[in-house]
Amino acid sequence: MNQDTKPMIVTCGLPYANGMAHLGHMRTYVPADIYVRSQKKQGREVVFICGSDTHGTPVVVNAEKEGITPKELVTIYHKHFSDIFTRMGIRFDAYGTTDDEENHIRTTEIVQKLIDGGYVYSKNIDIAYCPRCDRFLPDRYVEGVCPHCGAIARGDECDQGCKKPLYPGELIDPRCAVCKNPAEYRSQEHRFFKLSEFDGFLKEYLETLNGTDNAVNYAKGWVAQGLEDWCITRNMDWGVKFPNADGLVVYVWVDAPIGYIAFTEEWAKDGNDSWEKFWKNNTDGTLNSQNSRIVHFIGGDIVYHHCIFWPAMLKGAGYALPTDVVASGMVKIEDKKFSKSRGYVVWVGEDYLDRGFHPDLLRFYLACYTSHTKELNFGWEMLQEKINSELVAVLGNLFYRSLLFAFKNFGAVPNGTARPEILEKIKQTTTEAVKAMEEYEFKKYSDTVMELASYANTYFQSHEPWALIKTDKEKCGEVVYNCLQLVKALTVLFEPVTPGKMQEAWTQLGLKGNAADTLYEEALVPLVPESKLGTPEILFTKLENDKIAEMDEIAKKRVHSAMKEAGLVPDEEKVLEDSKKEKGSKDKAPKCACAAGEKMDGENTNESALLPEITIDDFFKAQIKVGKILSAEIIEKSTKLYKIMVDVGEETPRQIVSGIRAYYEAEHLVGKTVCVIVNLKAAKLCGVQSQGMILAADDGSGSVSLLMPDQELKPGSDVC
Ligand SMILES: [Zn+2]
Ligand SMILES: [Zn+2]
Repeated sequence: MNQDTKPMIVTCGLPYANGMAHLGHMRTYVPADIYVRSQKKQGREVVFICGSDTHGTPVVVNAEKEGITPKELVTIYHKHFSDIFTRMGIRFDAYGTTDDEENHIRTTEIVQKLIDGGYVYSKNIDIAYCPRCDRFLPDRYVEGVCPHCGAIARGDECDQGCKKPLYPGELIDPRCAVCKNPAEYRSQEHRFFKLSEFDGFLKEYLETLNGTDNAVNYAKGWVAQGLEDWCITRNMDWGVKFPNADGLVVYVWVDAPIGYIAFTEEWAKDGNDSWEKFWKNNTDGTLNSQNSRIVHFIGGDIVYHHCIFWPAMLKGAGYALPTDVVASGMVKIEDKKFSKSRGYVVWVGEDYLDRGFHPDLLRFYLACYTSHTKELNFGWEMLQEKINSELVAVLGNLFYRSLLFAFKNFGAVPNGTARPEILEKIKQTTTEAVKAMEEYEFKKYSDTVMELASYANTYFQSHEPWALIKTDKEKCGEVVYNCLQLVKALTVLFEPVTPGKMQEAWTQLGLKGNAADTLYEEALVPLVPESKLGTPEILFTKLENDKIAEMDEIAKKRVHSAMKEAGLVPDEEKVLEDSKKEKGSKDKAPKCACAAGEKMDGENTNESALLPEITIDDFFKAQIKVGKILSAEIIEKSTKLYKIMVDVGEETPRQIVSGIRAYYEAEHLVGKTVCVIVNLKAAKLCGVQSQGMILAADDGSGSVSLLMPDQELKPGSDVC
């Protein structure tokens, strides 16, 4: 079956129904919506699916804290997300929840298929157990040290450090996330999915998978490292019950992606259509025989789940496979790493929509700030600059002056014909833009279309219709007709990015129906001369300085109060923060600003003015000496750490573990003169003894630099 005629499912990673929508969410959902609108404009059959992820421990932990049931908690956030998506112009064909009956049934069916297929086995494993709370501690109920990189991690994922998924029993020094007491490991029977058996399949499959390199290449790397079987049960009540296993539910990462199928079923039920044509359309089970396209838009942090676990489950249970995985880059706020607890966050409701900003402006910014896979920086002044210089000065200007001129002087679309070179330019732009869209290059799409708007402005300007109207009204009509044809084409082409505003333009052009329902080919269909125009109105107005200054002020205050109230950070993050602090005081692990998984602490140092005052005596408690690096070698167990030998003027060199591997090559470290805290209590990191800490600075955006004296000093010199 031709790619163009295959029915297509597009999904977005499910938002977790445990908090409010922020800009980081929109980075995935807005481009996915743009993509879907563009597919519809190409005449393809496409269904856009999403829903709230409702299971897992964070929901239960939060509900307990709020004194409500998990169901009540997720209902609140499900509604919130659903509202925000509607207001942002993101049009899902179905938006369910993973607690819907359809998902319970579909998950049970798939798990049973995997059991029947021999892909599931039982094994006794050590599960963290809190004697104080008298409960088993699945996933986020437990925290401890990552066995791979030494960062503080939660039970199911090294979220602050190496990002690897973690399995029950793997955390070192487990601790109860609720009461903070040390947990113990107790043996218990759990179910495992034989992921390792899918090794050969996944290697072959990933060669055929389309999407962005940041997804596909990472996944290939992980498979090359070897796959471990996957524990798919948890000791909880909240979730989808595991078949024939008392007290166990399936792990949330099993039933969450199955939601994509369940929500398609909900959509099919509503519209009397078939969900099987998307998910059961693998005619003989081979990779090339699939008669549907399945495109997943996800955040860059859940590639493992979508490119490895998910296709293996689908394959094992006999379902169609994802054909494309598109992963978005991260978001920074005002050049700082996105962090809710530190106040570097923009809430889509409270900060943006509720303050009267039009959703299309944010959609435009998200689409065209940078390439989809790169890091996107958001700042209010940057938003202002982008909107005023492009949407207002180029697109808005063209639309308003063309429509106003036509309306005032002709009262309708003037008599004229579309010039061949104009139609050719529109055709070229469309081809180029659609090609960019197929490559998930939303910025390129938007830039290409914006170029057509510049071309149209130049056309208007150089033909001087305001002069022609006085001398040759017929010729003037010809020019204005072509300007309006360009406006029409731009309306069609920009509709995926700024749908609300383009609908307004469509109405001003006097055209019937919805801009959203028109195909790209409509851009080339000539306007009907003498057809009535709507009343012209300004589409885009400048974002004014005082409005932006007001938003800047709100953003600054938020960061300030977050810093001041450090410790009063949101719940799940507070737990982590606290356990870090406790960990630090217990064994005084060397904490370089850039030590493994401690990047957020690095940001803290940037806000040093807000830390409590210390005396000079406090400062001198740290003994800092100049040292010369003699050697640096990789610590195999970790992805971030070096074992570094440093001469600090003592008889024997010091052995120091440092998390600067991402920033320096080992051979470039040798010979460098650095600053070392020499009286820090020794500690073990990833099993390697560390006797001190090498000082480095971290600007919070990923740049880390060693602190070095500006002239050569002998090892052992005091820093004071
Ligand atoms: Zn780790
Ligand atoms: Zn406890």
